[in-house]
Amino acid sequence: MPTNVSDTNQSERANETTAPPTRKKVKPKRPPKELPWVIPVNCEGCADCVNRCPQGILVMTETNVPGIFVPWLYETESCTGCGKCTGGCVMGAIVMTSYVDMAKERFRDQKPTIKTD
Ligand code: SF4
Ligand code: SF4
Repeated sequence: MPTNVSDTNQSERANETTAPPTRKKVKPKRPPKELPWVIPVNCEGCADCVNRCPQGILVMTETNVPGIFVPWLYETESCTGCGKCTGGCVMGAIVMTSYVDMAKERFRDQKPTIKTD
């Protein structure tokens, strides 16, 4: 069983915060040197990262495990790479990576997945 499935309140809390906070986005002045990288298996779905993003571009998204939500970035071009989303994650489930193109591709082409076997 994935580690975060054991938190029975996970989906309830995530459902409350599925929509990101409405914030006025600023256009990044230059391409970010880093982008967030989400590690779904470590995530407990508290949505702190979603609420910390000044751009409001992280969205709690359902994984392949029904009812389990993790943050996912849909507007990669609006990410400034500020790293504020990673600041409050005590689970180490969202970190910054310098592999910007790889992170963009992953957010664009994949859905968050938790290995279940
Ligand atoms: S990545 Fe961390 S801060 Fe964000 S929802 Fe998961 S546990 Fe919470
Ligand atoms: S790095 Fe900054 S702009 Fe990008 S998702 Fe995290 S908090 Fe939002």
